[in-house]
Amino acid sequence: MRTVYFGTIVHSLALADLQVLPSAAVGVDEDGTIEFLDPNTRSAEASAEKHSWPVGSYSVVSSDPASVSFFFPGFFDTHIHASQYPNVGLFGKTTLLDWLNSYTFPLESSFADLKVADNVYSRVIARTLGNGTTTAAYYATVHTAGTNLLADLALKAGQRAFIGRCCMDANSPDYYCDKTLEDAQKATLEVIEHITKIDPNHDIVCPILTPRFAASCSKELLCWLGKLSTNTNLPVQTHISENMLEVELVKSMHTFADSYAGVYDKCGLLHDQTILAHAVHLTDDERALIAKRGSGIAHCPASNSALTSGETRVKWLLDAGVKVGLGTDVSGGFTPSILHTARQALLVSRHLSMEGDESHKLSIEEVLHLATVGGAEVCGLSNKLGNFLPGKKWDAQLITLDCKNSPVDIFPWELKTHEDLVAKWLFNGDDRNVTKVWVDGKLVAGTAFTS
Ligand SMILES: [Zn+2]
Repeated sequence: MRTVYFGTIVHSLALADLQVLPSAAVGVDEDGTIEFLDPNTRSAEASAEKHSWPVGSYSVVSSDPASVSFFFPGFFDTHIHASQYPNVGLFGKTTLLDWLNSYTFPLESSFADLKVADNVYSRVIARTLGNGTTTAAYYATVHTAGTNLLADLALKAGQRAFIGRCCMDANSPDYYCDKTLEDAQKATLEVIEHITKIDPNHDIVCPILTPRFAASCSKELLCWLGKLSTNTNLPVQTHISENMLEVELVKSMHTFADSYAGVYDKCGLLHDQTILAHAVHLTDDERALIAKRGSGIAHCPASNSALTSGETRVKWLLDAGVKVGLGTDVSGGFTPSILHTARQALLVSRHLSMEGDESHKLSIEEVLHLATVGGAEVCGLSNKLGNFLPGKKWDAQLITLDCKNSPVDIFPWELKTHEDLVAKWLFNGDDRNVTKVWVDGKLVAGTAFTS
């Protein structure tokens, strides 16, 4: 049945343009597509009548008029390692390369056991959906069966997901790697086949080609994946310039290119369906190359701070026309929440400004744009997701600030504008405020999911 969502609507139209509509209605048809957005209306029924929806042909979902609540687009997590979820918060004093060997590879190797995969993947999907993440770009592990299971579970839970089987045939531990190039190729094709079988049009779950990073792949594997992406139009995700030791390692391994971005480019992996995580230490030339190819950056501020990797210059990327979204990078990042990650992005941009250059600062409007529209752009889905414009899909969350056990204390006399409420949410809110979550027009999670 069609549905009219009525109440306060908050969504991003452009980088610094967060639209707050206190009495709006969104009409969503049976397949979850937004048919109309009435920015100012007195009731759901008035909007329905205006758009010739007969009485009885639609249901109404209102934000509670007695509560401080609003509809907000679902979040995009453009970079998350589903398999690393048990390690959130565990990184000690490590930096990237020793963190991989101490914490990450031992955990990921345990996903040969499907019981482990089932347990962890079920929990990470429930946790991220409950935090309002309606689309996630997941890394799984090298294991084919476990990766297929992640796709099955995401589809069943109704979370949009890119599912990446990690390719790593070089410079990786013996106990956790692709033994040969052929092994990596075969396993990659098997995962694509499975996901295409369970979701033929890749509407909810989509395979994503995943060379772990240039330092763990042979040139042959990188170039095979590049060719496969060209032939199949499948998206690509990988890491770039996270840590200076890693940058040097890539330079010494892949001498056929003159930069880290150049390695991916020479192998056909840099295009407009490519998600590059981190981009902390890019050069001006690499930024220009990435902008020219139309690839997107997954900015992971919590991870970059935890692993002491550095501080990504987001404004510097945006100024060159590079697409940017947010990633939790679980478990380099310690939080599965994109709201928390947006908060961290705002703080990291201020750290960059402490040298005196104010141009690095990101505003509340800007980080919430990166969390939604920016993420949709990076994932190649901005024509159908990211905000509530007609023609897009209803992927949304109902945020209630004064819900039971809310972490946000509201003092109504202090709040002059709706923008103040959004600021309170960004800095103090968490998943307790996520009362309902919809993907493709279907209710899939939230604290009121079962009511
Ligand atoms: Zn990562």
